[in-house]
Amino acid sequence: MLELVDLSHTYGSYRAIDRVNLKVAQGEVVCIVGPSGCGKSTLLRSIAGLIKPTGGTVLLDGKPVAGSPENLAVVFQDYSRSLYPWMSALANVGLPLRRRGLDKKRRDAAAMAALEQVGLAGAAAKYPWEMSGGMQQRVSIARALAYQPKLLLMDEPFGSVDAQTREELEDLTLRVCAHHGMTILLITHDVDESVYVGDRVVVLSKAPGTVVGDLPVQLPGP
Ligand code: ADP
Ligand code: ADP
Repeated sequence: MLELVDLSHTYGSYRAIDRVNLKVAQGEVVCIVGPSGCGKSTLLRSIAGLIKPTGGTVLLDGKPVAGSPENLAVVFQDYSRSLYPWMSALANVGLPLRRRGLDKKRRDAAAMAALEQVGLAGAAAKYPWEMSGGMQQRVSIARALAYQPKLLLMDEPFGSVDAQTREELEDLTLRVCAHHGMTILLITHDVDESVYVGDRVVVLSKAPGTVVGDLPVQLPGP
């Protein structure tokens, strides 16, 4: 469903990613790992359409992704900037659903259901500044889940929370995405996380990042 063809990006004359080729099937969870500065965020931002790659193409269901932003959602590491501080958790989660044409009543219902899924039903009326970091990141994830994109892009989504919350959020994300048949591309520098969360781990080389490994994950039996 997602296909990257010779995707490249240079900042000025600095090559960040170089001819990345990748195919991701519907429902797959693919983790991208690689050393710091190898272009992981650049790759994700190119796929999200947040930057215009200087070379190559990103296809979503065979069409250039730039034309279908409604099919994807992004979760970033920095939760402190991902929520609108003047909106409650419920309003933050419901906001993107306006683009789906849902009226307020249905947006609130869908947002509440997503907040329930992340264990924050009791915090729907809270504002970001009233919530801990872990809670804010849960709200960001709830917003992505409520939107039900075909493709969920996650850039170190669990990097800023404590170890316990991190495990909860990893499990939660997998559970909900499996339920909706969502495809996930997740960036992490944590190899343990990549083999736990991913069906597949794609390894980028040091800068300029290019694919040097693409491995299915086979966990040892219980
Ligand atoms: P990663 O996510 O793997 O750490 P990034 O994609 O953030 O890597 O960055 C790849 C390289 O591109 C880094 O060397 C970084 O300094 C550089 N870079 C990232 N964003 C910009 C920018 N806006 N302008 C110039 N260089 C950038
Ligand atoms: P962090 O990982 O940033 O420490 P957590 O998400 O684990 O944050 O939560 C820290 C605090 O936030 C908890 O002690 C609790 O008081 C409050 N909290 C967590 N979940 C909820 C919830 N569902 N409803 C209301 N408050 C909550």
